[in-house]
Amino acid sequence: MTLDIASTAFLAQSAISGAPALHQVSVEEARLMYTAMAALSHEGPQMDRIEEVAITTADESTIRAHVLTPPGPSKSVIVYYHGGTWYWNRYPGARCDLESMAYSYSFSPELEQEWRWSEVYATQPEILNYVEHVAQRFDLNKDINFDTRVKRAVYDEDNQQWLIYTDTGEVVAARYFIMATGCLSVSKDLDIPGTDTLQGPSYVTGLWPHEGVDFTGQKVAVIGTGSSAIQSIPLIAEQATAMTIYQRTPAYSMPAKNRPLDEDEIAEIKANYPSYRDEQKLAAAAIVDPPRSLESWHMVDEEERAHRYDAAWNAGLLIAMQSTFNDI
Ligand SMILES: Cc1cc2nc3c(=O)[nH]c(=O)nc-3n(C[C@H](O)[C@H](O)[C@H](O)COP(=O)(O)OP(=O)(O)OC[C@H]3O[C@@H](n4cnc5c(N)ncnc54)[C@H](O)[C@@H]3O)c2cc1C
Repeated sequence: MTLDIASTAFLAQSAISGAPALHQVSVEEARLMYTAMAALSHEGPQMDRIEEVAITTADESTIRAHVLTPPGPSKSVIVYYHGGTWYWNRYPGARCDLESMAYSYSFSPELEQEWRWSEVYATQPEILNYVEHVAQRFDLNKDINFDTRVKRAVYDEDNQQWLIYTDTGEVVAARYFIMATGCLSVSKDLDIPGTDTLQGPSYVTGLWPHEGVDFTGQKVAVIGTGSSAIQSIPLIAEQATAMTIYQRTPAYSMPAKNRPLDEDEIAEIKANYPSYRDEQKLAAAAIVDPPRSLESWHMVDEEERAHRYDAAWNAGLLIAMQSTFNDI
């Protein structure tokens, strides 16, 4: 159930007109108020239904509220969205670190066959392009409310439904409320003492300007050597005249060995997608390649160890090194 703009306007109008708050009047009075207001403003739809609900708050007290249902078919799915990982992370060099043919949707065999990834590890623009293609391909945009944040959600025990409040003023009643709010959708604030005295611009990889940044002729300092820094530093360094990199704790990293995908390997993966997806469902973090060894490094001699480490280094896959032995 969604409150449309006219209904939201009605609530605002009723608040400034000195009328009692809706939770203080009966259902019949609320209906009369709405009809009177709508007649005065000559706009806005009639409400199909006005229900009274009791909401139990965190401190166990109860609030009475009225849920106004506008006419028209109710939506079975409503998605509130404020840009995800691949919308915000536009820093130079941003790309996935799991192979794209694995890091992609598995729910549609047709989509799997149609889409063509260009490199082993796709760039952020290519992934965003893919996500937008999926939204259009499956006609999902009609159910997505862009630039809308959920401010609050309360479970209404009596009526067994969620009441979801957004920053656009909507209140929606829903039986199921799935919070797919992501693990990396909020960037970390720059909480380092002294940065407020910084002369010149500063950027955060997870909130990179959409128009890009030109570092030509600039002196650049990068804080951190995590995966975003490792991806962006080589590209920023191509433009900058000087670079200083601050590292607190070194992370183990190895070359990804990214390269364009060739037609034969794409065809082979596409031919085996169903069984590959089955394996992914059973694998830790859905990572299939390379298969993890059951042997400890103690169980083989030095030569075999070196051989496996070299092979893993040359493969460049995300978990190649951890897959060499069961205790790495
Ligand atoms: C550079 C980079 C590379 C990565 N590479 C890989 C990889 O190779 N393999 C891998 O498995 N993972 C990778 N990840 C992790 C990546 O975050 C996840 O794989 C995946 O994209 C997360 O998707 P999600 O939908 O769960 O979350 P998100 O993409 O973060 O989406 C969460 C959504 O919820 C919205 N949201 C949050 N709170 C609210 C609210 N109150 N109201 C409304 N909307 C809200 C956000 O705005 C966002 O749209 C990578 C991440 C980064 C940054």
